[in-house]
Amino acid sequence: MFDGLKDKLSSFREDAAEEVEEKAEEADAETETAADADATATPEAASDADETEASSAPAPDAESATEPDGDEAADDESSGPGRLKRAAAFATGKVVIEEEDLEAPLQDLELALLSSDVEMSVADRILDTVREKMIGETRAQVQTTDQLVTEALHDALLDVISVGQFDFERRIAEADKPVTIVFTGVNGVGKTTSIAKLSEWLDERGYSSVLANGDTYRAGANEQIREHAETLDRKLIAHEQGGDPAAVIYDGVEYAEANDIDVVLGDTAGRLHTSNDLMAQLEKIDRVVDPDMTLFVDEAVAGQDAVKRAQEFDDAAAVDGSVLTKADADSSGGAAISIAYVTGKPILFLGVGQGYDDLRRFDPEELVDELLGER
Ligand code: GDP
Repeated sequence: MFDGLKDKLSSFREDAAEEVEEKAEEADAETETAADADATATPEAASDADETEASSAPAPDAESATEPDGDEAADDESSGPGRLKRAAAFATGKVVIEEEDLEAPLQDLELALLSSDVEMSVADRILDTVREKMIGETRAQVQTTDQLVTEALHDALLDVISVGQFDFERRIAEADKPVTIVFTGVNGVGKTTSIAKLSEWLDERGYSSVLANGDTYRAGANEQIREHAETLDRKLIAHEQGGDPAAVIYDGVEYAEANDIDVVLGDTAGRLHTSNDLMAQLEKIDRVVDPDMTLFVDEAVAGQDAVKRAQEFDDAAAVDGSVLTKADADSSGGAAISIAYVTGKPILFLGVGQGYDDLRRFDPEELVDELLGER
């Protein structure tokens, strides 16, 4: 999962760490040279002082004797502050990271993110956070440079990935039953499979569910979801092809109320005559059924397209979160990183395979650790 992106992030870490290390070595070398220079300068200065003291009584040479001293003091001052700063950095084992140190690695990171299908505004945000976390930072010797870079990248990724997260299970637990969840998204991305997977996920946590097929447009949609319902032994509410999707989901809610079912999982069409028709239908379902949650489903492999669609669906029927399928087949990770930040709604689940138990609760920390090779 996300192997391509993992490699690219790892390259950034190495490059950035190398730049900072190089700088640290340069600073150390300079400070050593400065220290050597000081060491040789000090006895001279001392002997100058001795001379001045020794010749303090007789006048003739006194002025000329103090002059060179004065000049030397001025020399020391002009090179002093920089030298002192470096010396201080050397003494404390710290090196201050500047913008120019990170310029090249950050440019590469930006390209890496964009080529991984990370949305532009998300890439910008990540870069800004890395800059903010690293520039002006002191690289202490107690902390390895790699740790410093990794922490900056960790925080930057977490910042965009964790947008809007909430405790899905708790929301289900605390909501009045039945809880109605409507699934939106285009055909073929794994919407129906995700409904079946979520039904199983809920079952494992003690919640019963009924499936309702609001995709009354596509021929074969009823059979497809029925197969899942039969395999999992769940009730399916379905109407004839061409029926009103809002009415099907509404029937699902009535069935759940009458049979003490906890959750209604409503499928919707992934394509109509035009995308305007589709969006109008989703708006109508939203109005009539007033679902507790609307989840947008798309496939991780769709990258930026998935991000664009997430925005469109969110505009039509306010989405509460996303399910990102086929993460197991995605190398780029762009959608996983971008969707939450772009829509302001969290990714709640990852589909990681074709089996019913291949649904993982999306955990931003876990994903970031995985991307940084810490898991
Ligand atoms: P829908 O048209 O959006 O309802 O899509 P389906 O649920 O029919 O899924 C389309 C295909 O994607 C099926 O072959 C699924 O088995 C497959 N699929 C769904 N989710 C995943 C996933 O997380 N990983 C993988 N590898 N395949 C998936």
